[in-house]
Amino acid sequence: MTDRPKPQPGILNIAPYVPGRSQAAAGQKAIKLSSNESPLGASPRAIEAYKAVGEHLEIYPEGTSAVLREALAAVHGLDGARIVCGNGSDDLLHLLAQCYIGDGDEAVMSQYGFSVYPIVTEAAGGRLVMAPESDFTASVDALLAAVSARTKIMFLANPNNPTGTYLSAREVKRLQAGLPPDVLLVLDSAYAEYVTASDYSVGVDLVEGCDNVVMVRTFSKMGLAAARIGWLYGPAHVVDALNRIRGPFNVNLGGQMAAAAAARDTAFTDRLARYNAQWRDWLSAQLSSNRMRVVPSQANFIMVLFAEPTHAETAFEALLAKGLIVRQIGSSYGIANGLRISIGPEAAMRAVADILKNMVFD
Ligand SMILES: *Cc1c(COP(=O)(O)O)cnc(C)c1O
Repeated sequence: MTDRPKPQPGILNIAPYVPGRSQAAAGQKAIKLSSNESPLGASPRAIEAYKAVGEHLEIYPEGTSAVLREALAAVHGLDGARIVCGNGSDDLLHLLAQCYIGDGDEAVMSQYGFSVYPIVTEAAGGRLVMAPESDFTASVDALLAAVSARTKIMFLANPNNPTGTYLSAREVKRLQAGLPPDVLLVLDSAYAEYVTASDYSVGVDLVEGCDNVVMVRTFSKMGLAAARIGWLYGPAHVVDALNRIRGPFNVNLGGQMAAAAAARDTAFTDRLARYNAQWRDWLSAQLSSNRMRVVPSQANFIMVLFAEPTHAETAFEALLAKGLIVRQIGSSYGIANGLRISIGPEAAMRAVADILKNMVFD
């Protein structure tokens, strides 16, 4: 068929994003440990704020997410004029690619980086160049070696999904210092709230000190995945470019208000972070036996590596049979022997440990 609308070249080569599985066997009550959602729900203040806007669905939201930007600026000590909010951080990643990548341009990411980066790059007509990692951790030298004259964006998830590994503030600084000044460094700090490493930096200092660094954040991992709220902090010239092309009402009102309340509810954020650190440590220790290896994680999930891909498959099915849904990282990622397990409710953590420690792998 030649006479029908055709997508731009490359669009149909994009492999669609595969979300974490959300259903167990028919009739079974499932616990979802496949999408890195909050095990403690959302901040009660956020829920209250979300409900409060429900009476006036006929009115457009305020287009610049001013209330949310003000809350973020106050809580994080930032310049609110340099914040852009998005319909999830995916929205912002698309906007960045659209702004800075054209046909034939390149973006660089590390080998096991977040799977949305290829989608946004290819959707903008660009090509992703992968830099090899060492032991599931991004390598600054390899990332810099992958830069060419066509490179426009460098994506770094820190900590990274699905590996959970991170780069220290020093290493990220070295990465920025080695980049040509016209390459935009996108620091995706989606899991920042969960980091406990003392040598980590979320990226604010680099954004403020450089003209080519933006920090992207999300509320999705902090209890508001359904509200779809991401935000970005960047230099004024990047913010200006993004504001020209984003949807004029790209963030829904309920989401804006819920996120503003969640941002200010730092007691809830702290509680979630403490809960996560406790059970991340516990589960990591439990699963470092029975021929399993846990890659040290700074996020709200762990990556477990099995001796064989078939072991990962067996483990996945055994967990699923008990209603515990985890994420198979899979061969498309090049980690066929890996499962990603979100830190979830205490009973689920104990059940996962019990099942995997007692599994007999052939
Ligand atoms: C979950 C995640 C996001 C967040 O996506 P949203 O669109 O905000 O839900 C961004 N980056 C990484 C690395 C993630 O794992």
